[in-house]
Amino acid sequence: MISVEEALEKVLSYVEVLEPEQKPILDCLEQVLAEDIYSTIDIPPLDNSAMDGYALRAKDTRGASEASPRYVVVVGEVAAGSMPTKEVRPGTAIRIMTGAPLPEGADAVVRFEDTDEVNRKSSGGDLSQIGILCQAKKGLNVRGRGEDIAKGNLILEKGRVLRPQEIGVLASLGRSTALVIRRPIVAVLATGDELIGVDQPLAPGKIHDSNTYTIAAEVSRYGGIPKILGIGRDTVRSLTEKIDRGLDADMLITSGGVSKGDYDIVKDVLAEHGEVGFWTVCMKPGKPIAFGVMKKVGGGKKGKVPHLGLPGNPVSSMITFEQFARPAILKMMGKKILAKPAIRAIIEDDVVNTDGRRLFARVNVTKRGGQYYASVNGPQGSGILTSMARANGLAVIPESSRGVKAGDMVEVQMLDWGEEQGDVKKLPVVSIVGKSQSGKTVLMEQLIAEFKRRGYKVAALKHSHGGMEIDHPGKDSWRFAQAGSDAVCISSPDKLAFIKNLNHELKIEEIMPIVGPEFDLVLVEGFRKSKTPKIEVHRKELGDDLLCSPEELLAIVTDGSLDTDINQFPWGDTAAIADFIEKNLF
Ligand code: AMP
Ligand code: MG
Repeated sequence: MISVEEALEKVLSYVEVLEPEQKPILDCLEQVLAEDIYSTIDIPPLDNSAMDGYALRAKDTRGASEASPRYVVVVGEVAAGSMPTKEVRPGTAIRIMTGAPLPEGADAVVRFEDTDEVNRKSSGGDLSQIGILCQAKKGLNVRGRGEDIAKGNLILEKGRVLRPQEIGVLASLGRSTALVIRRPIVAVLATGDELIGVDQPLAPGKIHDSNTYTIAAEVSRYGGIPKILGIGRDTVRSLTEKIDRGLDADMLITSGGVSKGDYDIVKDVLAEHGEVGFWTVCMKPGKPIAFGVMKKVGGGKKGKVPHLGLPGNPVSSMITFEQFARPAILKMMGKKILAKPAIRAIIEDDVVNTDGRRLFARVNVTKRGGQYYASVNGPQGSGILTSMARANGLAVIPESSRGVKAGDMVEVQMLDWGEEQGDVKKLPVVSIVGKSQSGKTVLMEQLIAEFKRRGYKVAALKHSHGGMEIDHPGKDSWRFAQAGSDAVCISSPDKLAFIKNLNHELKIEEIMPIVGPEFDLVLVEGFRKSKTPKIEVHRKELGDDLLCSPEELLAIVTDGSLDTDINQFPWGDTAAIADFIEKNLF
């Protein structure tokens, strides 16, 4: 049995970034740029007006106000798209529209609203001169030439994923095409005598082929071009014929025919076309997977087509696609972020993991009060495709775990999130633990000061058995609580305190959303039983034993020396401890 990571590494080692192609920019959405884009022009090309108003010399507005307007002679008008034909000389102005080039001599634009134009118009007055009602600084409402993009600069670098905004930037540079890594063509083949097409009526013993559609849609979602080969019957002839038609693709994905006892035909056919391996991957659903390389027809660059044989069960084929085919497609497209976006969520149901494999449970994730919750809804059989339709996430229960209980934190892969969304940094949390009187609070103080000195925004969290300082009898907050409020929030211009009644102590994970995401680091004193990384403070005079077991600890800070493999820091070397935290948690 191999791990999910080993299987993925192997799959990825067989696929390469594809070659680039030049194509119209609108067809490049979500593709990776294969050239550096330099600007050959300034954008905007000329100084121009950011407002509808009057272009003039700032000097001529000195001292202007509603009570004492400054009057200038209007010598012309310029609209967007045309060039000014006149110059602005002292004491004159040119009526100008947004986007129109700034006339020679002008250095500011005063908006219509800051002139007496409206009054003049309504009273049928003379528009050959205008009253300026406010003092303008040089540059007011003027967009400078090259302010957005300066000629000669690198604007988009190779490797960028093109989103609508990048496509717009290309257009503004006057590029109608771009060089991008081409999309992979992925051949999709379903196998099984029981399968019939979606356009055919069901017959006894038959089911509609759904895998072709799930897989082809996934190929498209991740940027590939599916090439549907149809349904291969469980005969050598039928399979050979179908597979042959898929060998001009960049990858071949089959489903079905790889489970025990059933795969002989598929195996033989695959072996005839190239090398094939059958893997038992430590995951559920989706244990049996075939992987190999087929010989390519018509040569091609490498003459080989990677083949991924997914299990036939609709849920298994989709989950194995997500874990192995999706990253392969992304890699071929030149993408750098291959990991499935994941979050940490509180699971709302118990999930048991019976056979020591990595379990992917279909869950529905919701966000409530800044915290993600994942609920397992409905039956989880690997043939029940509607369990995927009900889900927006896959909770990952590690192979080392016997399962999770409702209320535990779990990692959830988000099925519908873009890869970039998963790249969000997690808030680093480290807990300082130790026996009573070991010096936890002193180390907390030292670390807080050290991290502040390094420019971090630090939050400190403390576990307290006793009451809360701000909750003292007589205080208003105490009186509100006495009167029965479930929470008291005290706000002042420079502090916020929130006291909430609980019937059990919250876990660190549950407290973090309340602390908020704006901090760079959370230092925790205590919370020995939590699963957050811990550093134990050890003091000689309190004995040689440690409070926590070694596998729970990231490091020890001690005034003596202990015979252990755990990283040790001498008491007082705060800089080294902070370096260590930086290296391990950020
Ligand atoms: P297999 O891996 O071929 O033994 O198939 C396992 C299960 O998945 C069987 O119940 C098949 O009927 C089902 N199955 C296989 N291929 C498909 C498909 N393309 N669409 C729907 N169900 C399938
Ligand atoms: Mg089959």
